[in-house]
Amino acid sequence: MKALVFSGPGKVEWRDVDEPKLLPYGAILKPIAVAPCSSDVHTVFGGGVPKQENHVLGHECIAEVIEVGSEVRDFKPGDKTAVPAITPNWRDKAIQDGNYGHASAPFSGHQLGRTQPGVFAERFSVADADTTLAHIPEGITDEQALMSVDVVTTGFTGAENADIRFGDCVCVMGIGPIGLMAVAGAALSGAGQIIAVGTRPICVNLAKKYGATTVLSYKECDIVSEVRRLTSGVGADAVIIAGGNANVLEQAYDMTRYGIGRISNINYFGGTGYLPLPIFSGGRGMCGKTLRMELAKGGRSRIERMMIMISCGRIDPSPLVTHHLDGLEKIDDALYLMRDKPADLIKVMVRI
Ligand SMILES: [Zn+2]
Repeated sequence: MKALVFSGPGKVEWRDVDEPKLLPYGAILKPIAVAPCSSDVHTVFGGGVPKQENHVLGHECIAEVIEVGSEVRDFKPGDKTAVPAITPNWRDKAIQDGNYGHASAPFSGHQLGRTQPGVFAERFSVADADTTLAHIPEGITDEQALMSVDVVTTGFTGAENADIRFGDCVCVMGIGPIGLMAVAGAALSGAGQIIAVGTRPICVNLAKKYGATTVLSYKECDIVSEVRRLTSGVGADAVIIAGGNANVLEQAYDMTRYGIGRISNINYFGGTGYLPLPIFSGGRGMCGKTLRMELAKGGRSRIERMMIMISCGRIDPSPLVTHHLDGLEKIDDALYLMRDKPADLIKVMVRI
């Protein structure tokens, strides 16, 4: 079977790999459409955690079930499903303690394309179909379903972890696909003022559409003093970090309100070293600002709920898909597009 594999730093190749294995609770699936993610770009082109050569990439996918294990109840061959990027092992004891992302080991919730072969292949498997795969409701487009598996749930995780109250001022740093969904999540959570930080015109327009009341360009102003000015010197009630290098954490601390401010990070920091926490705006360790850093929420129930938000008209992530390619063999072209980010690109969908 053909699959797109990591073949060394900066390189991908199509190779013949082993067929996926069917487990009693699992399923074998055939991708219908996939999307490369910035984290695939990090894995291949640097900044990500080193992967073994021959590793099958990819974790954003909608797929048709082609075979199910003997214990599967809710899915059958022919079903069209959304496959969550995050697939916790719900049979792990630590899940009962609420530890979804890192139950048995750090990042155990992120299996596809990481500890298991990914979805950029003719076929792939999941270990537990009933708790992993999401039924796609009537009326949802392929673009919408595909965006729900990672981009929507990750952006919304950022908003949820910011504990937004009605009328809060929320600053979203970074308005790539994840940041745009964090803007939408903040608006749906009741934020009043939403200050988005970004520069690419296509993303600026969408940020306003999804609920940003102000968009700041870090190229044209000092973000921290501008957020302070827009909040009468108080600072934002919550800051969601959805992009940028290590310096954004320092800026987030500087622009967050003392006493009750929340900082919610869903950004991926590449490399090693340290994240700077400023001593002064951190109140010398007593500022009352809360920092939360978390992996996106995943699993079947979560992604089915994301798609309910879409089918009920609360959110439409389809404008995020700016580029379409056709055919399995175009996935590497899509990956290069995500790396090179032409001005009109947000996400690219490859229809298999
Ligand atoms: Zn992703």
